[in-house]
Amino acid sequence: MADGPHEGADTRRAKLVLGLRSGGVTEPSVLNAIEAIQRDLFVPELFKERAWEDSALPIACGQTISQPLIVGLMTQALQLKGRHRVLEIGTGSGYQTAVLAGLVRYVYTVERYRTLLGEAEARLKRLHVQNVISRFGDGHEGWPEQAPFDRVLVTAAPAEEPRRLLEQLKPNGVLVAPVGRGPVQSLLRYVGDGKGAFVKEELGEVRFVPLLSGVARES
Ligand code: SAH
Repeated sequence: MADGPHEGADTRRAKLVLGLRSGGVTEPSVLNAIEAIQRDLFVPELFKERAWEDSALPIACGQTISQPLIVGLMTQALQLKGRHRVLEIGTGSGYQTAVLAGLVRYVYTVERYRTLLGEAEARLKRLHVQNVISRFGDGHEGWPEQAPFDRVLVTAAPAEEPRRLLEQLKPNGVLVAPVGRGPVQSLLRYVGDGKGAFVKEELGEVRFVPLLSGVARES
């Protein structure tokens, strides 16, 4: 088997999945969903060669496509079922969106940059992903018209507990978000107790771009 930078995309993809497994992503459906997505279609031309590395990479508008291991761990932490409707905040490249779309019935995703949203929509269309509904807006607001959701995933870091988003969860829902002000945040999981309260768990430290207020002005 070829090794090094010239090995084929299939080999690199398989290696990435093996790495995720040893990093703690053990749920087979999640590993399969990640293996099924061509990550090179979600990164800028300049970084195509690095698409199968387990690292976050720059995308347009000063944002990043998340690290595959973190995508895997966050997706697994959501404890998804096929019938779920999931709200994602921070579409970015659409990579995490595509992984979710492979696992659940509907994904609703919100992004504050029109450019990123347009590019992500085009990619998902090209991949024939048909169960994603996307919207330009400030994710702090969630998507009240479509609430309640079975699951909510936040892929940019709110400074504090995302109250408005917790309000849009079903009573037994699960929300996963990186929460904190600095460059390193706590990955938190909130699990609904069915009576309107949430049990909060810390899953580890992560590095995400901040969840910014309002929509972006672009020139
Ligand atoms: N899941 C993405 C990660 C993107 S980085 C991927 O796999 O590519 C986080 C994204 O959150 C960025 O695109 C950023 O523009 C977006 N974001 C930040 N604040 C936001 C807000 N208030 N509302 C919606 N999106 C926001």
